[in-house]
Amino acid sequence: MLKVKPVEGYPPEAGRYVRGNEYSPVVVCTILDTFDYAIPQDLNELVLAGADAGAGIAGMLQTENIGMEKMICNIVANPNIRYIVLCGRESTGHLPGESLISLMQKGVGEDMHIIGSRALTPVLANIPVSIVERFRSQIVTIINLLCLPGTRDTNAPGLNPKTIEQAVRSCYQEEPVKFMDYNLHDIGAYPEPGIYYKIIAKITKTLPTGEPGKTAMNLGFTLHKLLPRTDCGKCGKRNCLAFAIDLAKGKSMLEQCSVLEQPEYDADRQSLAKLLNQR
Ligand code: SF4
Repeated sequence: MLKVKPVEGYPPEAGRYVRGNEYSPVVVCTILDTFDYAIPQDLNELVLAGADAGAGIAGMLQTENIGMEKMICNIVANPNIRYIVLCGRESTGHLPGESLISLMQKGVGEDMHIIGSRALTPVLANIPVSIVERFRSQIVTIINLLCLPGTRDTNAPGLNPKTIEQAVRSCYQEEPVKFMDYNLHDIGAYPEPGIYYKIIAKITKTLPTGEPGKTAMNLGFTLHKLLPRTDCGKCGKRNCLAFAIDLAKGKSMLEQCSVLEQPEYDADRQSLAKLLNQR
């Protein structure tokens, strides 16, 4: 069975995940349904169960845009990854789980909107369509164990660590095995080399030019791409875009966005600070 080395620098994007065997055929994607700093214990246990069972990466997916883009970049960098175990409970509004399923089933439109997603901003603006299409052909199956928003019952398959372990182990088998409604086994690496693509490098290249008014707006749009885009309002603005434009105009401080203090956003926060220092 074909197994290959991931690209140098794998995984290119930082995030809330743990790394396992880089020859593993499966990753565990746990939907994070809170924007609090602390990860809920029940979700943390799913990630650890996935990692213990042999997932190549086991981590959290929080948003339907930047979070999804980072996950895609990390997967296309490692051709050995062919399955995603999707678990946890759906996050209302952002609907990253639904968006991931829609992306696999229908892809993106010309404007990079995920076709069929009902999320707030299901737009993959920072990766080219070729990366999206590579992701869609590399992943053969999403093992969908996702629970409804608000579910707390750890007997539900998508919240049960033992079930996550079983799903991961099924993907490792040399011969097909039945896991729930899925027939799973390790089919070997995708037959094309891994791709190194890092979204932050692309975002920080886009510096604003033009008249002063337009410059602030352009910078605002660029900053917006790096903000968490949760529209939680903790900064005192009605949404992340309003905050980004105030940042660009010098009317707000980066520190007012407490969500950026989460480790997942370290790289984004540094890029934002760099952009603001270049004004
Ligand atoms: S910019 Fe404001 S609305 Fe957006 S994530 Fe930060 S605190 Fe929340």
